[in-house]
Amino acid sequence: MRLVGVLGGGQLGRMLALAGIPLDIRFRFLDHARDACARDVGEMVVGEFDDRDALRRLSAGCDVVTYEFENVPAKSVRVIDEAAGRGLCLPGSRSLEVTQDRLSEKRLFEECGAAVVAHEAVDSREEMRAAAARIGLPAVLKTRRLGYDGKGQVLIRDDRELDQAWNRLESAAGRGGLILERFIAFRREVSMIAARFADGSSAFFPLTENVHRDGILHTSRVRPQDRGSAVERSAEAAVQRVMEALGHVGVLTVEFFETDEGLLANEFAPRVHNSGHWTIEGAEVSQFEMHLRAIGAAPGSSAARAPARISAIGHAAMVNLVGRVPDVKELLEVRGARVHLYGKEPRAGRKLGHVTIRAESERELEASLARVRHLVGGP
Ligand code: AMP
Repeated sequence: MRLVGVLGGGQLGRMLALAGIPLDIRFRFLDHARDACARDVGEMVVGEFDDRDALRRLSAGCDVVTYEFENVPAKSVRVIDEAAGRGLCLPGSRSLEVTQDRLSEKRLFEECGAAVVAHEAVDSREEMRAAAARIGLPAVLKTRRLGYDGKGQVLIRDDRELDQAWNRLESAAGRGGLILERFIAFRREVSMIAARFADGSSAFFPLTENVHRDGILHTSRVRPQDRGSAVERSAEAAVQRVMEALGHVGVLTVEFFETDEGLLANEFAPRVHNSGHWTIEGAEVSQFEMHLRAIGAAPGSSAARAPARISAIGHAAMVNLVGRVPDVKELLEVRGARVHLYGKEPRAGRKLGHVTIRAESERELEASLARVRHLVGGP
């Protein structure tokens, strides 16, 4: 039996455990909420991420510690490593530090040769106006830190909306600054989920196409035409360079905008990702199990090499259940559909679960997707 400590007890932690338990891996989670949704699949340590005693209780006796939330303070990882006298937490603190600031994230992408959207850090109303004149409108004003699911960002369509956007995010400007980005009329959004193992080898999942609604991921799917395509190869190459630059060990996801000029890297998550939930039933190995293998938590995996590419099984997609869970009986009646619920109280904009769909053909996938989308509701 092996013990894995996880910083964060949300649905990603819950799904990591659901992948690890069949491999005889046990889990312990640190979360400030006693009723965090990983409570059902492991031991809970209730506390804050900066509470040294809680960090000690989390990591005591663990073979490895990992995180399922990218806003864990990088210092917490360093505290765990120092107490252990080795790099017990994988991925390490650098992956967290870079992802927590949109500006450093974009700098890393550029250093890795990945194109990014035109952007400027702005610390005052005047700087924002000057940046808007250089970058052009429409643009998106975002908080550099702690933004997620479209929160902490405002679309600016024309000059008249500049002041209003600043007023909305001004209070956040003092907590880590703002960034102005050119608004991209992308063709589509895609993500590349990959895993880097301790020996430096990496594994890539198929490119995933994502559709967001109100800034929150709604649907992810794999497209047969993307397999082996130039776009997929270029996403793989970018992710590989990012993982190497960070010395990352574990799963890492990069989200891109696909434009007429190629891919623009938008952001990365140093963890398993919502756009990879389709892999639970739709890939040879799920992103969760792959993460456990990459960090050496799975039996036999500490000296393993990554398998290079992970194939999809047939045609696969995922639809998020956001804000409300529709009639589960009806969802289960959809061909190829599997329902995953996170045990969370419904609240507007909250991710409560997801539905994965697997099919023998694109036609069959389309039919099941249309049915699930209908049951989930919305446009
Ligand atoms: P983010 O928090 O950067 O992932 O943004 C959430 C979502 O907002 C993205 O997935 C896009 O759908 C949209 N978005 C963010 N930034 C831009 C941009 N510069 N241009 C167009 N759409 C954007």
